[in-house]
Amino acid sequence: MDTKLQGYWLGHSAFKFVSPKGNIIYVDPFLKDNPSTPDALKEVEKADFILLTHGHEDHVGDTLEIAKKTGCKVVGIVELIGLLTDKGLSEDQAVAFNKGGTVRFDDFSVTMVSANHSSSFDGKYAGDPAGLVLSFEDDLCIYHMGDTNIFTDLTLYGELYEPHVVLAPIGDHFTMGPQEAAYAVEMVNPNLAVPIHYGTWPPIDSDPNEFKEVLQEISDVEVLIPDVGKEFLNTD
Ligand SMILES: [Zn+2]
Repeated sequence: MDTKLQGYWLGHSAFKFVSPKGNIIYVDPFLKDNPSTPDALKEVEKADFILLTHGHEDHVGDTLEIAKKTGCKVVGIVELIGLLTDKGLSEDQAVAFNKGGTVRFDDFSVTMVSANHSSSFDGKYAGDPAGLVLSFEDDLCIYHMGDTNIFTDLTLYGELYEPHVVLAPIGDHFTMGPQEAAYAVEMVNPNLAVPIHYGTWPPIDSDPNEFKEVLQEISDVEVLIPDVGKEFLNTD
């Protein structure tokens, strides 16, 4: 019964977490059209929550389909959630909030922080892009940076939320690349950093080892380069 937090990277920016009480949480579930998601993981049968960093297709992904199938809550910034309800997301599944705000669920909470990027959905303005701080009761705090470049508030987020794990985009082209990402993570100063948003398509074929090397030169943050679909986090 007393299971702990489990985490799986599903490729690109997508994650699945299972909370200590068994809540199934997807972040940015871009799966079906994601070239790096293994076929066996493209179909979602059960979900309790979907958390969205912003409106771009490589993040919203299969959200509407999964929400319809599972009845899960969909959590994101006000404008994006509004566009999703226009597209058929049921109002009672929608959880719309904004930056600086925290929404609390069964055994975890989600705080929305800034990301320096852009955001649209279905050709429309989808609110600001965001980062998400997931805080699990009596367990880890995980900061998913969303798509972003480096910005000075990251130091404050490190002090305020003290995340154990940072999920950082390193792909370059659409987000920061490996070197800038290493400096961004150093500002947050977590225990562990996980590079994401790379290797999906040719323009973002960055080398996660470059991120690891730079980060290890400038900090003592540990770097984990997970295999897609394999459990990379288990606090049991
Ligand atoms: Zn993206």
